[in-house]
Amino acid sequence: MLTGCSNTLVMKSNPIKSIRNIIIILSVFFVQCTAQVKKDSDIARQRKLMVKIQIESRGISDEKVLDAMLKVERHLFVPPEYKSLAYEDHPLPIGEDQTISQPYIVALMTEILELKRTDKVLEIGTGSGYQAAILGELCDSVFTIEINKTLGKRALQLLDDLGYENIIGKIGDGYQGWEKYEPFDAIMVTCSPSHIPEPLKEQLAEGGKMIIPVGSTYVQELVLLTKKEGEIFQTDIIPVRFVPMINFEGKEY
Ligand code: SAH
Repeated sequence: MLTGCSNTLVMKSNPIKSIRNIIIILSVFFVQCTAQVKKDSDIARQRKLMVKIQIESRGISDEKVLDAMLKVERHLFVPPEYKSLAYEDHPLPIGEDQTISQPYIVALMTEILELKRTDKVLEIGTGSGYQAAILGELCDSVFTIEINKTLGKRALQLLDDLGYENIIGKIGDGYQGWEKYEPFDAIMVTCSPSHIPEPLKEQLAEGGKMIIPVGSTYVQELVLLTKKEGEIFQTDIIPVRFVPMINFEGKEY
């Protein structure tokens, strides 16, 4: 009987309490959603500013490259502790003593290759996977090689999670190129050897372009190589500083 009474009481007070609880839950949910939307739009705004101030204003004008830089979410490719710096005007550590390049350098190297959708591109030095994603926005087939197993596995997983079905990667020594898929219309090297690797020259298609930083550990030149009638022509672009290209023993090329 008592139980019955208390049940009735509960029944009576419940709808109001429940409605109040639902309102509280909905408000919290709404506040959280609003905060997330604001956070997302803040990040998108940072990316827009990055493209405008760091990239366009320094002379990059290829709309396709600018669109790719606007689209790819750079903050997803850097370690959590550097997310807030992802859109700043400098390189960032990505672990294993390696770095993700400054956004402007990524855009410059990409623009110089004058990529077409149908081009087959090889990248040496997958690192975080960010540059590969930019290339993946522009071309149907992208191949990327990373020598560091930890970085390579992480980057390939992320690219897969983001749905880049057109990017194929492997752990390997990029000095040797990727014979299985040659010739490449474009090759981008994002680590620096002291000389231009012969296998990469050979795997470049007729009329193809290779962008590569060459030099010593501290002084390097970004150079553009073009293959015409089997001959390689070189144009110097700007002085740069990339991490060295190494072999599996850690020795610098
Ligand atoms: N493109 C990358 C940044 C690359 S940093 C990005 O967008 O994040 C240079 C990378 O080259 C490093 O991850 C380094 O491990 C790798 N590397 C060095 N020597 C290499 C080699 N012989 N073959 C492939 N990758 C190499």
